[in-house]
Amino acid sequence: MVAAKIYYDADADLSHIQDKTIVFIGFGNQGAAQAQNLRDSGIPNEKIVVANREDHYAEDAKAKGFQVVNDFGKAAEVADVLFLLIPDQVQPRVFNGKIAPSLKQNAVIVVASGYNVFYKLLRIAPTNDVVMVAPRMIGSSVRSLYQKGRGFPCFVSTEQNGSGKASEIALALCRAIGATKSGAIESSVREETAMDLFAEQGLWPNIIALFREAFSVLKEAGCSDEALCYEMWMSKEPAEIFEKAADDGFILQLKHHSSVSQYGQLSGALAIDGTEIRNHFKDILYNRVLNGKFCEEFSKIEEALEKEGEGNPLNQLYTRSEACELAQAEKRVRHRLASQR
Ligand code: NDP
Repeated sequence: MVAAKIYYDADADLSHIQDKTIVFIGFGNQGAAQAQNLRDSGIPNEKIVVANREDHYAEDAKAKGFQVVNDFGKAAEVADVLFLLIPDQVQPRVFNGKIAPSLKQNAVIVVASGYNVFYKLLRIAPTNDVVMVAPRMIGSSVRSLYQKGRGFPCFVSTEQNGSGKASEIALALCRAIGATKSGAIESSVREETAMDLFAEQGLWPNIIALFREAFSVLKEAGCSDEALCYEMWMSKEPAEIFEKAADDGFILQLKHHSSVSQYGQLSGALAIDGTEIRNHFKDILYNRVLNGKFCEEFSKIEEALEKEGEGNPLNQLYTRSEACELAQAEKRVRHRLASQR
């Protein structure tokens, strides 16, 4: 059994970061929330710098009282701690091109997701510290839970310990953003990337495919589009089931259902031989995620994601996916509902 360490406020000492200049690259979803939490935890405002292009994100940071610079190189020059909080797909370009050349030898680089460190896409000097402080929440929740005096789930890890103090600094940062209040879980960029990409490429594609096929089977059996859309997701029943699973337990939430439902679900799930799906999942985890194949494939299409129309590979995938019976039926149902309002 693998039991992860969990760190609380008492395990973290803010004095490790109190006199450091802390730079936030990006003031978006995570950047805005984490910078404000850190300041509210007592890190002096004059020690915090936000680096952002001159636009509404920069305006927002200024309005919230932060000192803002537009030049990433200048920000990197002064950083003792550098939070890299811009989208994962732009991090290598921005970090390798504009930040790495100016970064102090012993600066601490903080990432909020494992992807770029695990796949070694950032050019980091061996003298730097690299830590992951990865909230499992969107930025608005990172902020609102902090304001309510509560913590939020977060992964923490030390990936490179140039200073010999990286772990202490990582925990101090977790405490400053409010993560150790409810417990920061020891993890690694490998674990975070494996779970994240596996969920995105293994688990959820299967769930999408199960709904798609179930819809077509029931439609063929004579069920109406309207009834199916509501029965399967538009009533929000699946969302409620997952909420109950988080509160009561993945299996035990079933006790909220009728006896017919409980019997059907439990006996049905036990009757499914998981060998095939387990092998499929292993294939995705080992031969696509952990061996870097997906990362290689994604890096080839990355630039095209900025294109308009069908030249953008994501738009092509949407067009193909929306051709299925489920999506076509949903469109008709939503159109009908909107026109009757
Ligand atoms: P956002 O999409 O909110 O980032 C927006 C910020 O990135 C803005 O400051 C934006 O400024 C800047 N940015 C965008 N493109 C560029 C560019 N090409 N060059 C320079 N700056 C750019 O990011 P998130 O906060 O969602 O994600 C940041 C990190 O946090 C990622 O590693 C992500 O995986 C991780 N994370 C995200 C979570 C989430 O809920 N979103 C949850 C946990 C972790 P501008 O456009 O002005 O340049």
